[in-house]
Amino acid sequence: MNSEIEQIKSRLNIVDVVGEYIKLEKAGINYRALCPFHNEKTPSFFVSPSRQMWHCFGGCNEGGDIFKFVMKIEGIEFIDALKLLAKKAGVQLKTSSKKYEEIKTQREKLLDICKKATIFFSTQLNKSKTGLEAKDYLMKRGLKEETIKEWKIGYAPSTWDSLCNYLIGLGYERKDIIDAGLASEKFFDRFRSRIIFPICDFNGQPVGFTGRVFNSDDEAKYLNTPNTLLYDKSQALYGLDKAKVEIRKNDSCVLVEGNVDCIMSHQSGIKNCLAVSGTALTPAHLGIIKRFSNNLILSFDMDLAGNNATKKGIDMALKNGFNVKVISMNSEKDPADIILSSGEDEWEKIIKEAKPINQFYFDLSFKDRDVKSVEDQKRIVSELLPIFKKIDNTIEQTYWIQKLAEKLSIREDDIRQEMKKVNLSKQEVEVQKEKAGKSRKELLEETILSMALIEPSIVETLTEEQKKLFTFLEKENNDSYIIMKSELLKEEDIDINEEWHKCVYEIEKIYKEEKRKKIMADIKEKEKEGSFEEVKKLLLEFNKLTKKDDKK
Ligand SMILES: [Zn+2]
Repeated sequence: MNSEIEQIKSRLNIVDVVGEYIKLEKAGINYRALCPFHNEKTPSFFVSPSRQMWHCFGGCNEGGDIFKFVMKIEGIEFIDALKLLAKKAGVQLKTSSKKYEEIKTQREKLLDICKKATIFFSTQLNKSKTGLEAKDYLMKRGLKEETIKEWKIGYAPSTWDSLCNYLIGLGYERKDIIDAGLASEKFFDRFRSRIIFPICDFNGQPVGFTGRVFNSDDEAKYLNTPNTLLYDKSQALYGLDKAKVEIRKNDSCVLVEGNVDCIMSHQSGIKNCLAVSGTALTPAHLGIIKRFSNNLILSFDMDLAGNNATKKGIDMALKNGFNVKVISMNSEKDPADIILSSGEDEWEKIIKEAKPINQFYFDLSFKDRDVKSVEDQKRIVSELLPIFKKIDNTIEQTYWIQKLAEKLSIREDDIRQEMKKVNLSKQEVEVQKEKAGKSRKELLEETILSMALIEPSIVETLTEEQKKLFTFLEKENNDSYIIMKSELLKEEDIDINEEWHKCVYEIEKIYKEEKRKKIMADIKEKEKEGSFEEVKKLLLEFNKLTKKDDKK
């Protein structure tokens, strides 16, 4: 297995592998990015091509090779990461050997089942009578033959056991078919009489399905795979495997509600488009999108009344530093209909004309309202003030307050008075804070170590007393993390001598303070015990520490 790992590593470049998942920026000889594993506003995630390593110097303080990265970002075990990367590298793992058979993971089994089910559904769409009717319906909605193929759209027949029998016939176990979300507990087909849209993971493998009712009086128009080992609806983004590169290239992500909207957008050439699958926007969705772009263009059904799911999603996006724009579709049609009836150019134009979120709210609030009517004025104010109150930037906030005052012919001061009365709920005020980083002491120790790596002789400038104090210097240090940090430091073009003395001075103070605190605690302890000789000794030591500092 070891030689296979080495082989994979030698064929893949960490910059390409990591770069597929997150947006990397060149920073000297290394690459930098916002860490995908913790919430941050300034990038502290680094990738070193020369070392083929990554490291987060921020909240996580973690790092490793491509395997560790893929395991962490995909949330999978080593063996699955190995298989995934082997495929990417074109390295044949010796799957015939018994060892690999034994470690055919549950995840792999479920992936197999979903893949086979996708083939089954696709065959049904192209061969069965009702399937062909469903296909006809899709084509009438504007989908081309090759699009249907590309998105692996299928059809689930009306029978109760076709898929289950098919999968059992292929040798899969009942329990695994249920675990893949394709059969109910009583073992009958979950999806019946439905057009099937496979939902793929980041790498294009089907992990779940959305079924849209077809030729049936089932009341649930859409049905999704329940949460499984592979599929979590709060994280699933429809079209991610196809859109990820385009989102990065365009530095924007168009988010729509329906699968067909998403597919039609791609077909029309707007390929930086995703759909949320049967759920509101979640923090997990935003975390994934943020790896590729900070610019969101939403095409959602919007409504100002109340604090609905869409509004919550937008607030969340704003708090996470997204620029949010909203597409307004006057005709109240969905994107798929617009593309079909008005053409691809119209869709592109609508996206270009998307309004910044506050402008959108503002216009929406005034729509069909009479600015002369006091009742309508009150409605507008009560809709908009909670939104404006949440704007962090004072200049922007003032802009909107002035605009509102002007349009309603009310004094700005009165609006500000009203705004003071608005109470945002606790949840709305709560801002997701960056995970607490390392302590100042840890950071200083790291910096001192990396400087010692750049210029080993500098350690000799320390006094004997300092050397005794800085026990961390004695540790063997070939930590790749410190090496990377020293490389970054070298690129910063700083005066090492000056920086060294600053850091040494500061850390010495921290150590002494720690020591003083410890002595104080010991003194209290000894006093309680009544060992006054000990107390006297400790006091002397304490005074010595303090005096030395005074002399400086
Ligand atoms: Zn991190």
